[in-house]
Amino acid sequence: MPITAIRGFNDILPGDSDIWRRIESEAYRLFSGYGFSEIRTPVAEKAELFLRSIGETTDIVEKEMYTFEDRHGDSLALRPEGTAPVVRAYIEHKLYIAPVSKLYYTGPMFRYERPQKGRYRQFYQIGAEVMGDDSPRADAEALSMLMSFFAKIGVAGVELHINSLGDANCRPAYKEKLKAYLAGVKGALCENCLRRMDTNPLRALDCKASGCIEATKDAPSIVDSLCEGCASHFGTVRKYLALSGIDARINPRMVRGLDYYTKTTFEITSTALGSQNAVAAGGRYDGLVKELGGPETPCFGFAIGMERVALILKETASHAGSPLTVFIALGEKAEEASIPILRSWREKGSKVMEEFSPGSLKSRMKRADRLGARYTVIMGDDELAKGEVAVKDMLTSAQERLSFDAALMRILSE
Ligand code: ATP
Ligand code: MG
Repeated sequence: MPITAIRGFNDILPGDSDIWRRIESEAYRLFSGYGFSEIRTPVAEKAELFLRSIGETTDIVEKEMYTFEDRHGDSLALRPEGTAPVVRAYIEHKLYIAPVSKLYYTGPMFRYERPQKGRYRQFYQIGAEVMGDDSPRADAEALSMLMSFFAKIGVAGVELHINSLGDANCRPAYKEKLKAYLAGVKGALCENCLRRMDTNPLRALDCKASGCIEATKDAPSIVDSLCEGCASHFGTVRKYLALSGIDARINPRMVRGLDYYTKTTFEITSTALGSQNAVAAGGRYDGLVKELGGPETPCFGFAIGMERVALILKETASHAGSPLTVFIALGEKAEEASIPILRSWREKGSKVMEEFSPGSLKSRMKRADRLGARYTVIMGDDELAKGEVAVKDMLTSAQERLSFDAALMRILSE
């Protein structure tokens, strides 16, 4: 029996990988324009980092982390998300010396979830963090950048849902209100929500169990419980989103699956997806840097789910990468002459694959077709002597003799 990949861990195959690369390079280009620089952190961290940041009573930490002991008995975890590692590195390398750090990252994350379309155990995120800026305009700017990103790469049906989770000033009182409400509908809550009712009642608003969704329908709204500072922050975020021409829907039930969020939280969904329809999510986390031992640093960040974005683009957009040319040299002389010619063509940006098989010209042309050639270039002794090649347009079957340079211009013109 051949060995297969681990369940929920995917290969990204040629064709798809072109889409992935396009998504990544568009993100890098756009984010750089807003002053972001890349940071790369390891895929594994001390497990404690995630317990202390994401929160011990979150689904990620309770059920989804890949935690293991290394040979020394140290408890390590494959990162389930990118923010905590970036914060760890930010503190460790004293990046807070800069007045503001704008960082982006990309890479695989790991969560032990039930694999299904759009949900995997190894999945990729592109994320960005604005560190050291408490202005609501920073939230709105990052959200606007994200919406531009989706527009630029062609993700359709994008919707922005926002909420505010308050802060240390107003959240405790809201928690009490919610607890009291939950106590009244206790009988309908799932086991998990019951267990976390005292320590982390907000989780019940995020629970996917139908009983919990029903029971929390009339729960008090956090938006109504915000203190003056949080309410004004939220108002300014909404004002600046409106100034950017962005429609935002307020969803007071959206509490997100990580405990470190404060004030603004958001999720972006796409109608082009089925049930796993969130393509990006994030929010403000003003307390996390301090919590992890750094100086007081207000931050805002987000992460984009690469697989879901790639799924949409695969189904909707066209992905003609640069067209392939297959080059067939006939005979030893032409084979030798092709070496410097192809080298210079490739340096000039053409995408050319040389076809080396020993068969007849007819069978080699067939192979060129099966390789997906847009043009096939043939060079025999006769052409070579005249400094020419035969260029066959594989779409129209038209063939013409062109000088080396004219042939290059032709294949580059597509
Ligand atoms: P969901 O509600 O879909 O579980 P989440 O709240 O767990 O998402 P975040 O931790 O905020 O998601 O991650 C941000 C984005 O990463 C999500 O919006 C989604 O696009 C993507 N994502 C999260 N978990 C997975 C997964 N297991 N497989 C693929 N993509 C994922
Ligand atoms: Mg999740």
